[in-house]
Amino acid sequence: MTKLDVIRLSQDLIRIPSYSGVNREIISFLSGILQNLGFACDMLEFDGDDSYPVNNLHAVFNPKNSNRILYFAGHTDVVKEGDLALWKYDPFSATISDGKIFGRGAADMKCAIAAFVSAVFEFLAQNKNPDFGIGFLITNDEENDSINGTRKILEWMEKQDKKISHCLVGEPTNPQKFGEMIKVGRRGSISFKVKIIGKQGHVAYPENALNPITILINLLKILKDHKFDEGTKFFDPGNLEITAISSQNLGGNVTPNEAWAEFNVRFNDAHTSQSIIDLVDYACKKTVGLGAKYELSNRASGDAFLSEPKFLAPIVVNAVEKICGIKPALSTSGGTSDARFIKDYAEVVEIGMINKTAHKIDEFSEVNEVKQLQQTYLEILKIF
Ligand SMILES: [Zn+2]
Repeated sequence: MTKLDVIRLSQDLIRIPSYSGVNREIISFLSGILQNLGFACDMLEFDGDDSYPVNNLHAVFNPKNSNRILYFAGHTDVVKEGDLALWKYDPFSATISDGKIFGRGAADMKCAIAAFVSAVFEFLAQNKNPDFGIGFLITNDEENDSINGTRKILEWMEKQDKKISHCLVGEPTNPQKFGEMIKVGRRGSISFKVKIIGKQGHVAYPENALNPITILINLLKILKDHKFDEGTKFFDPGNLEITAISSQNLGGNVTPNEAWAEFNVRFNDAHTSQSIIDLVDYACKKTVGLGAKYELSNRASGDAFLSEPKFLAPIVVNAVEKICGIKPALSTSGGTSDARFIKDYAEVVEIGMINKTAHKIDEFSEVNEVKQLQQTYLEILKIF
């Protein structure tokens, strides 16, 4: 057998509902396939650090014991399917219809995992003794806390003296069609909660009260209108989006004591998490004024990063051009990914499916594009 059908394998993976945390079924399933291919597999369960337990897979094939090791990194966990009644097909049936494979995780990112496994299968069938190593770094927790996943696998690898020199991340990177975009970094992300504490009162006597909603609206307007920057060489300009606004509801003729809001800032390499926190705090201080108070908390999920395109990025560009006939853009747009941890250990490039339907109802991947991704990964292995 020289082929492992990428579509069959994508379906097998989608049919295992694997939410973030522990899912031994999907990790064992992948481990079984890779073991048969001659990979040394470690199923790693990590827990602690104020998060839930997670199981992960580390697998490596390195017959020449080389320092040059190309890893594929990805996650098997999926986000919740939402209202089942809204799905055209059961999200875990992996139904193929109209040239598309439907299911939760089809775009983000089970078809990409299947594509890389299938590409490695085909590559090793033709090259029994490659002069470089191939590894897998698979976590079942990227969509949620990301605490006991990729970061811990990398720390474990370092302790075990397991090398990694280059890494492909299979997150969905293309906006519309396969081959148009790869990623070499990501913007930073930080979420805030702000609570304004005013003074409750009668709507008819606002002079005796301090309405926190008015203050909050002013603050959010200032924050939303703020121009973070013009963008940098590889990055879009920073942006803030408000995600929730709320207050006490004490009845039609009472102004509340407290109001709060949540918002998220995506920022580039002109800023750090701390400089964004300082900026938001300054805006709060200036807007809240006398008499009222504010409480500000944040959850930073990472600074902006760039993995300087060196050896791997040009290979990926060439492979995409050969398979798709188009030159992909090198981008840093979109949400965060585990590449932010890997960039400290290896040159990392992200290339996967189309991100248009990721996390949505009726998530799907085009069957043809899954095959193109498999061919592209195979081409990367051949050039590497
Ligand atoms: Zn993902």
